[in-house]
Amino acid sequence: GVVTRFAPSPTGYLHIGGARTALFNWLYARHHGGTYLLRIEDTDRARSTEPAIGAIFDGLEWLGLAGDEPAVFQFARSDRHAEVAAKLLEAGKAYRCYLTQEELAARREKAQAERRPFRIESEWRDADSSTWPSDASYVVRIKAPRAGETVIADEVQGTVTVQNAEIDDFVILRSDGTPTYMLAVVVDDHDMGVTHVIRGDDHLNNAFRQLVIIRAMDGIEGGWPDPAYAHIPLIHGADGAKLSKRHGALGVDAYRDEMGLLPEAVFNYLLRLGWGHGDEEIISRDQAVAWFDLAHVGKSPSRFDLAKLQNLNGHYLREADDVRLAGLVAARMSGPVDQGLLARAMPVLKVRAKDLNELAAGAAFLFAQRPLVLEEKAAGLLTGDARGLLARIAAALEGAAEWSAEALEATLKGLAAEWGLGLGKLAQPLRAALTGQTTSPGIFDVLVLLGREESLARIVAQAE
Ligand code: GLU
Repeated sequence: GVVTRFAPSPTGYLHIGGARTALFNWLYARHHGGTYLLRIEDTDRARSTEPAIGAIFDGLEWLGLAGDEPAVFQFARSDRHAEVAAKLLEAGKAYRCYLTQEELAARREKAQAERRPFRIESEWRDADSSTWPSDASYVVRIKAPRAGETVIADEVQGTVTVQNAEIDDFVILRSDGTPTYMLAVVVDDHDMGVTHVIRGDDHLNNAFRQLVIIRAMDGIEGGWPDPAYAHIPLIHGADGAKLSKRHGALGVDAYRDEMGLLPEAVFNYLLRLGWGHGDEEIISRDQAVAWFDLAHVGKSPSRFDLAKLQNLNGHYLREADDVRLAGLVAARMSGPVDQGLLARAMPVLKVRAKDLNELAAGAAFLFAQRPLVLEEKAAGLLTGDARGLLARIAAALEGAAEWSAEALEATLKGLAAEWGLGLGKLAQPLRAALTGQTTSPGIFDVLVLLGREESLARIVAQAE
């Protein structure tokens, strides 16, 4: 069956491009009833950090993209990588190269001076193992084929061909015995049974080197099959430049914590970023699994559009369960909140909000302490005339038989007609007194949510 993997290097946060790579791997595996694995490529010991690993697990979990099995940690597999290097050495598919850094630098400079491309041509490639010095430091290089070409039928990029002469005998084991990235990836992908390598197209060049190692395994361990490759274009900013922080490219945790987005919105947005199913914009998780394929991954870089992500989030907020939203919003509000009230208010709050921060800001009036802190514009509405009006409204509302949106609407419309005023003339100071703001959900909904007692207390506090 199909086995995919997401293989982040934990040297920074889980960024939006990485999350999309994870998503495509997850979807491809799900669509084919296969397995989706996670590998933490922590071999760069200086730059790999625990917080970064934590952020990756956390971000994937939040998006519903946790691996199907416990994650594989690459550094822990160093012995196995070295074992494969030893097998390649033994089979004559790799060699010990004793060229020093100085010798290599001199050759590189000479090539530069003569204006020819530099390519490692080590005289150790064909040296007999009996001539290997026992006391000098060496690296292990793969014997890359010198003639012919290597073709990759990439599922996104199409057929890509590289002349083998362009691939030099790259290092697979460093002089300290540690594996290089190139070797570790190939060994791990093989041992994890990965059938499809789906990753950013910045790795396309590496694929040709990785294939050199895979094909060198011919006759060793029964030979290793080539995986299928799909190199997906990177994400660019709205201006077409490679995505950076300037474009709002933050860690996935920032989309959750700072921007207050829902995971289903980010999931949907990432899916549409570089993959399409006709004109469909709103695609559920189940639909995505049913429809996903590599054939419809775009060949050109997609552009990150924050406004589109926020709009999509607004859609998912309106779809989301109100009790769940109340919990999420309560967590972003300071002070104690009544989650039941928050959930009841959600239907009228969420139609006006694009993210959880806006929801929290919109809900704040529900839990405000008297005397309310008034926004400047709201304070401006509560002048002498308006205060007198509020006193008359309070008197009328105190006698209201029923405290429902319909009954309150009828009462206030009746008052407006009786006093020869437009409803807005009553609603504006009312809103200011009840919420401290000039914008809020509909005034009748506000009255009902606050309840008779609190509403009247807030109105009276601003009345004269
Ligand atoms: N660790 C690599 C990265 O984070 C990915 C390696 C791979 O997918 O083969 O860019």
